[in-house]
Amino acid sequence: MNTENIKSSFGVNERGYYGQFGGSFIPEMLYPNVEELRERYLEIIYSPEFQQEYHQLLRDYVGRPTPLYPAKRLSEEFGAQIFLKREDLCHTGAHKVNNTVGQILLAKRLGKHKIIAETGAGQHGVATATVCALMGLECIVYMGSHDMERQKPNVERMRILGAEVRPATSGSQTLKDATNEAMRHWINNPQETHYIIGSVVGPHPYPDMVARLQAIISEEIRWQLKEKTGSELPTHVVACVGGGSNAAGAFYHYLDEPQVKLVAVEAAGKGVSSGQSAATTALGKPGVLHGSQTLLMQTEDGQVVEPYSISAGLDYPGIGPMHAHLFHSKRAQFIAITDADAMDAGIHLARKEGIIPAVESAHALAALKELPLQPSDVVVVNLSGRGDKDLETYIRWGGY
Ligand SMILES: *Cc1c(COP(=O)(O)O)cnc(C)c1O
Repeated sequence: MNTENIKSSFGVNERGYYGQFGGSFIPEMLYPNVEELRERYLEIIYSPEFQQEYHQLLRDYVGRPTPLYPAKRLSEEFGAQIFLKREDLCHTGAHKVNNTVGQILLAKRLGKHKIIAETGAGQHGVATATVCALMGLECIVYMGSHDMERQKPNVERMRILGAEVRPATSGSQTLKDATNEAMRHWINNPQETHYIIGSVVGPHPYPDMVARLQAIISEEIRWQLKEKTGSELPTHVVACVGGGSNAAGAFYHYLDEPQVKLVAVEAAGKGVSSGQSAATTALGKPGVLHGSQTLLMQTEDGQVVEPYSISAGLDYPGIGPMHAHLFHSKRAQFIAITDADAMDAGIHLARKEGIIPAVESAHALAALKELPLQPSDVVVVNLSGRGDKDLETYIRWGGY
């Protein structure tokens, strides 16, 4: 059980920075909420009571540890040992619930009895509504009204779970507008409300807090790999990056093991230079997005560029500050994968291993082809989610 507050040279510093990235760029009205969180999150998360309840829920409710599956046929094909970390088998179908379980326990200890969240495609909204139902807390999820149209099943899932879904009707009526509405709500209701952010983004301490809650992924990989290969260290860990939470969790306990190559996979959409892409490190420049200094896709005069990816979870114009630092310091290698290569890799996994992955996770799988692999290599691919939610996307794509 990881009950220690481990310090990493790639971790956040006292002021909330990863190298030049991070910080807390928020309106003054939000300062007391974020400050309360900053002062208390580590003390709460690393208290024995929290650790006990968090790990018990991860086991009995989420279904952890998730298997580390040796993908035999994929290994034969690529000529290296390939393992899949099966986050797709988590309750609700992806890694996101690791974070929401942790944050709901934190909210209770902060004395907050109302939860707000924002959601784009609805996956984080569903993970939040799930844990609110579990704990009997009131849940309001802000969602762009355009996204509500596009993602009807997730809207209904949240409602079945008892959450209120509030449409954000301003701007492009998508994720950034939902984020603005959620921020406004928090400013007006600071005392009783906790805001659950769904990735390693936002003002400090969110990126660090979410990374620590997702770090269970690499904590498990270490002992599972040891059982299977005799060593805790793979040669590569590969994960897709939207905001970067599943990658942060998969990388976390390997950050200070320089012999482990960290491979972060972004969505190239229709091609990095097509104008329809979400490849942040290839296209982005430093700037402030959702309360932190990071890399983001922007115009000459600093307006956020609308991103595009076939996968809703990777359709984000920035990356978390920790990943901006991993890119900048060259600790991680970043690869961009197109819609077409990701869809092929998703269908390929279904045929080879009998697992239909989330389209996000299919981007990570597609990166295997881009790596020069050797027979002695041990590669862990973080399979962040299952493909059930993407059935429509697979059907429209065809080609199987
Ligand atoms: C949301 C989501 C992602 C992207 O989010 P990260 O914070 O980058 O992990 C990736 N995969 C799945 C299955 C998701 O639902």
